[in-house]
Amino acid sequence: MRIDPEKCIGCGNCSSYCTMLGGIMRFERDRKNPTRIYYVIDEDECVECSVCLRSGCCPTEALYQPELVWPRIVRKNFSDPLKIHPETRIPGRGTEEMKTNEVTGRYRRGMYGMACELGRPGVGARFRDVEKVAGALAALGIGFEENNPVTKLMMDRKKGLINPEVRNEKVLSAIVEFMIPAERLPEVLEVLDRVSQEIGTVFSGDIIARIGEDGSVPYLKEIQGRGRFLSINGKSNVGLGRPLAAV
Ligand code: SF4
Ligand code: SF4
Repeated sequence: MRIDPEKCIGCGNCSSYCTMLGGIMRFERDRKNPTRIYYVIDEDECVECSVCLRSGCCPTEALYQPELVWPRIVRKNFSDPLKIHPETRIPGRGTEEMKTNEVTGRYRRGMYGMACELGRPGVGARFRDVEKVAGALAALGIGFEENNPVTKLMMDRKKGLINPEVRNEKVLSAIVEFMIPAERLPEVLEVLDRVSQEIGTVFSGDIIARIGEDGSVPYLKEIQGRGRFLSINGKSNVGLGRPLAAV
């Protein structure tokens, strides 16, 4: 996103709509007229979500979207909720997100779907950090979800290597998805605990599993044993989607 300095009147409205915290918009003084200020967007920190533009907050239409080309277009693909991912044909974060949309019944008993979410509104994530997580998982021999835009950016899925052209690109958030046999959960959590200390953004993990016949959560003990907790906004699929696969 950019601001036309000739049109900007320095009101600062756009700054309060920006999804990135920490002052990615700064004001500058007009050299010819020092009493006049205008705003400038730090393009390295902007994730191209278009929230500022779409909000209609600018009274002078100074905000504008320049043409985005590779690799910068990746920012918009991952950050603008109205943009459809070219790889998966899914808008938003470009993934079916097992945590919200798992209605296919493909997670059988004894299998866990997992997702590692890097970034959030306010902080975002760089693909170099996504690669650290993917690389640590790949070292365990884990295979990544095929229909996922992060997987599509990998040059070497066996090593979890992301295309180097996008490693420094920043997005609102990115999700690494994979499936594991339930017995591998401890080693996966061990690795995620370690790698979460090595990345420069927030990190959360999702697990999807069928609950027990008695309503119990099969991975609860393992999570609590690590001093972690389940988020209260966990979601339940009651089977109203496509028919459940045979157990
Ligand atoms: S496009 Fe998004 S990240 Fe960039 S300046 Fe606008 S609100 Fe902020
Ligand atoms: S809202 Fe428009 S006029 Fe106000 S600071 Fe932002 S770009 Fe400039």
